[in-house]
Amino acid sequence: MTVSYWMDRSGNNKINADVVIIGGGIAGLSTAFWIKKEDPSMKVVLVERYQIGDGATGRNAGFITCGSVEHFNRLVGKHGRDEAALIWKFSEENLRLLKEHVIQESGDELLFENKGSFSLASTNSEFTELKSSAKLMESFDIKVEELDEVAIRQRLNAEGFVGGIKYIDDASIHPLKLLHKMKEKIEQLPSEVTFLENNEVYSIENKGDNKLVKTKHAQIEAPIVVFATNGYSAMLNNFFADKIFPTRGQILATEPVPRFMEGPCYANFVLDYFRQMPTGEMIIGGFRQLQKDAEIGYSDQTSDTIQAALEEFLHKHIPPVRKAKITHRWSGIMGFSVDGQPMVGAMPTDPQLFFVGGFTAHGLGLAFHSGKCLVDTLFDRPIPSFISARRF
Ligand SMILES: Cc1cc2nc3c(=O)[nH]c(=O)nc-3n(C[C@H](O)[C@H](O)[C@H](O)COP(=O)(O)OP(=O)(O)OC[C@H]3O[C@@H](n4cnc5c(N)ncnc54)[C@H](O)[C@@H]3O)c2cc1C
Repeated sequence: MTVSYWMDRSGNNKINADVVIIGGGIAGLSTAFWIKKEDPSMKVVLVERYQIGDGATGRNAGFITCGSVEHFNRLVGKHGRDEAALIWKFSEENLRLLKEHVIQESGDELLFENKGSFSLASTNSEFTELKSSAKLMESFDIKVEELDEVAIRQRLNAEGFVGGIKYIDDASIHPLKLLHKMKEKIEQLPSEVTFLENNEVYSIENKGDNKLVKTKHAQIEAPIVVFATNGYSAMLNNFFADKIFPTRGQILATEPVPRFMEGPCYANFVLDYFRQMPTGEMIIGGFRQLQKDAEIGYSDQTSDTIQAALEEFLHKHIPPVRKAKITHRWSGIMGFSVDGQPMVGAMPTDPQLFFVGGFTAHGLGLAFHSGKCLVDTLFDRPIPSFISARRF
């Protein structure tokens, strides 16, 4: 967005802060939470273009899964055994931190379930990969269980899969309720975070030793600016243009039916996914591989091709919802990083500009811990190299 001289009312609302966070999704709120935990005296302003949760965080499928966008054997192939194990443990710690600091006793209210998740194979070759992943994971004491076709029918009521594995410790949640609970927790901390919703940041300028963050309605001056702007980051700073790629994901939801599934499932090399909510609704997403080019960019739309593929998947693989009415269809923009791992820390181009994002379809499984690491970088503490924003 550009703002004309005539529109600019920012001069009437000048704010000073220690840190400005841009973005009201799980990355921005996690960062605000950990800054306040670290030093309640710091003045934090969080600026969101629309409302808290209107980005990917309020549009995702609610899987809190460990690991990354690929099967563990591929993660090992790319990063080596030791780093792959660290990546997995990083996301396990994310869930532990979420449970300790945010979910706490509110599990039912947030529709939180910690009953594991499944990866299902519709071909023998994918099942072979899953079995080799399971063996590798067991060698790191990661809890997994192998399932054959019969077990999948019995426990998930799903058809057309030759086998799969269960990740015992994974979880699922209502993602927007989780975010609102996080905001509530931030508001309970000793000093306030100022939330400026409906304020799109359109420029960040240098002002003396500080940065001046401008929206149409406010000017915020601070020494530190954190981009928690996910797939939209390149719209604000060209540094991200070849590092964080805006990638659309689509979902549909059905009316509730009696519960029939043990837990949430991925299929087709983690590209497609489905889960039944504790309240009975079915959520199905994925198939962006069908329109790779169209699914890159910022437009918040669904496409007939992908929605039809989601419906076909539902009919083919999940018999108990074949007749269920489809109630919602939506899309959201994810931030994919070059290597699939998050990017956290100061930008190499400017030590006062920080970034936390690039969760590549796994923000619920990574962002809370990443926000904590971002705060480590603010206080000059080391963070794991596989998430460092300086690695590219
Ligand atoms: C369809 C779909 C399904 C998904 N399923 C899952 C899942 O099951 N599990 C999982 O872990 N992850 C899933 N993801 C990914 C997950 O949603 C993201 O990784 C996560 O929400 C990213 O959080 P974020 O805070 O980085 O980004 P966002 O939630 O997108 O927040 C970024 C915010 O920045 C704001 N912003 C951008 N530019 C500006 C500006 N100039 N000024 C002010 N504000 C600005 C945006 O409005 C937005 O609210 C899914 C994503 C999609 C789209």
